[in-house]
Amino acid sequence: MPDLYDIGLGNFDTETRQLANSDYVSFWENQAKKLVWFSPWDKTLDWNPPFAKWFVGGKINASYNALDVHQAQKSEKPAILWEGENGESRILTYKDLWIQVQKLANVLKSLGIKKGDRVTLYLPMIPELPISMLACSRIGATHSVIFSGFSASSIRDRIYDSKSKIVITADGGYRRGSVVKLKETVDDAIKDFDFVENTIVCKRTKTEITLTDKDKMWDDLMENVSEKCEAEPLDSLHPLYILYTSGTTGKPKGVLHGTGGYLTHLHSTFKWAFDIKNSDVFFCTADIGWVTGHSYVVYAPLLHGATEVMYEGAPDFPNPSRMWDIIQKYHVTIFYTTPTALRMFMKFGDALPNSFDLSSIRLLGTVGEPINPEVWRWYYRTIGKEKCPIVDTWWQTETGGMLISPLPGLETIPLKPGSGTRPIPGVSISVVDENGIDLPANTKGYLVIKNPWPGMLLTLWGDDKKYKDTYWSKYANFYYSGDYAIKDEDGYFWLLGRADDVLKVAGHRIGTAELESCIVSHHDVAESAVCGIPDEVKGEVIIAFVVLKENTQKSSELLEKELISKIRVDIGAIATPKQIYFVSKLPKTRSGKIMRRLLKAIASNDKIGDVSTLEDGAAVTEVQTAFEELQKSMKK
Ligand code: ATP
Ligand code: MG
Repeated sequence: MPDLYDIGLGNFDTETRQLANSDYVSFWENQAKKLVWFSPWDKTLDWNPPFAKWFVGGKINASYNALDVHQAQKSEKPAILWEGENGESRILTYKDLWIQVQKLANVLKSLGIKKGDRVTLYLPMIPELPISMLACSRIGATHSVIFSGFSASSIRDRIYDSKSKIVITADGGYRRGSVVKLKETVDDAIKDFDFVENTIVCKRTKTEITLTDKDKMWDDLMENVSEKCEAEPLDSLHPLYILYTSGTTGKPKGVLHGTGGYLTHLHSTFKWAFDIKNSDVFFCTADIGWVTGHSYVVYAPLLHGATEVMYEGAPDFPNPSRMWDIIQKYHVTIFYTTPTALRMFMKFGDALPNSFDLSSIRLLGTVGEPINPEVWRWYYRTIGKEKCPIVDTWWQTETGGMLISPLPGLETIPLKPGSGTRPIPGVSISVVDENGIDLPANTKGYLVIKNPWPGMLLTLWGDDKKYKDTYWSKYANFYYSGDYAIKDEDGYFWLLGRADDVLKVAGHRIGTAELESCIVSHHDVAESAVCGIPDEVKGEVIIAFVVLKENTQKSSELLEKELISKIRVDIGAIATPKQIYFVSKLPKTRSGKIMRRLLKAIASNDKIGDVSTLEDGAAVTEVQTAFEELQKSMKK
């Protein structure tokens, strides 16, 4: 078992754990009381599987809890320290944000938006995005944020699905120094949609745009509009937002989240995982177009009245030190990012981060994919200077917030590189076999959730059947996460990759993360993706794709030999790949996750399916070429 890092903060809070274990419903009820409700609930949980209703009858408002509650004490405190990709900056205090949100809420009302209507937001990472989300939630409109890197056809599907009355966009957005035209893309996407009544356009770049009768400029609308708009008391179950998943395993799913339960989950987990203090400067690098951005850039930090950095652009633009530069500039104390970003930073070596003052950091976080232990150690050593806990947070768009994570704000717990440690209090998570039976320690199986939790999705938008089929059909009474995992003898969880991607060789099952982490621990390797392809003799053989670090001098033959012997020693001969390919990039979603299903589909001559969330088509071409070479060589 890997080394332990005993660097938790605070005391082990057995009382909280005991309470949560004895009665999870009362436990969450107590957490919910930390928010401000307009009227209390009659019933804490109405569980009619697979539909959970939390805090039934309670009235609450997300925008009120994010903004109004802080005005007495923190109106002048910075809420958002915004950094533009081009070096511009803006500071919005809690009062600024409150005023902007109320004004925009009045604008939306004046354009006919009512409680329950949907509004699509297709905006870059500029303060107008959280302002728009909070303005929607203030009046009970359900927002649907679409990542601003998506094409017209991807956004057309999502706008059609949500039947949004209004789309809020910008003339353009900056990405790696160039301007991405957003308004033009929206025009293309909605040209046949009569149900879209208006488009609101923010000015971010100097891109020329053509306005139609439906189009209104943000700045014009915000002139002469009242700064007062009372927050609407909404049912706890009121749909706060629709958000489409990353699409790593297939067509994105329109996840629908409610209000009271979701906010309770975020309020608790943000405090427990990040041990948030009034003096902190929090920086989460996620784009708001993904769930991490919704939960831990917008709602959770604001519920706590925290100060946060919001960055507009690519993490390595104009150079790979951009993140370290931002941390130094704003004295960031908590940094939350992804394994993909960390592997990219690692590729450039230690000298870059070492040339910045990162001493303000006291806590680090990661989310999105299993973190390779080697990458964890680098993060701990080079960025955290061996003094900061790393919270490896496992969760999904569907779960709303973290479900497995170290919780330095709650308890002391030794960390193990590569493990998300234990579930948060108040949830019941297990690793089970095909029949839903709990597996003994250190046995691989499927990660399931046995009780409803407050951040749980309400359903998939407009598709209860798909909701049931996707999450509640493999096991009758458990939520099926689709992830493969083990729980060790200390009760720590290790995520091994997607259940669909599990490698089956010679009667053994190996999670993709196990083999990839072994490959990535080789000194010259930056990144790796593995998949199984059908084989007439063995049933399945393993193929590995490897991206090398910058300036690697060794020949591919030598590297291949070294990697194979490493795999044999660390895992065993059965995990030896039939072929190792060295490529310069891997196919990823726009949220930075490796799309192994594409590798598998190409290799098995299957259709590659929905690629609307694919980051870079060139990576697919590279993989395709590699496979064609493999097929040719096998025919010889
Ligand atoms: P789709 O469901 O459309 O295929 P997706 O699952 O990638 O896309 P998200 O909801 O963004 O969409 O990602 C959740 C998934 O990310 C989890 O199911 C898990 O596989 C992975 N994940 C997230 N955090 C972690 C983590 N800390 N450790 C391991 N895996 C993680
Ligand atoms: Mg998923």
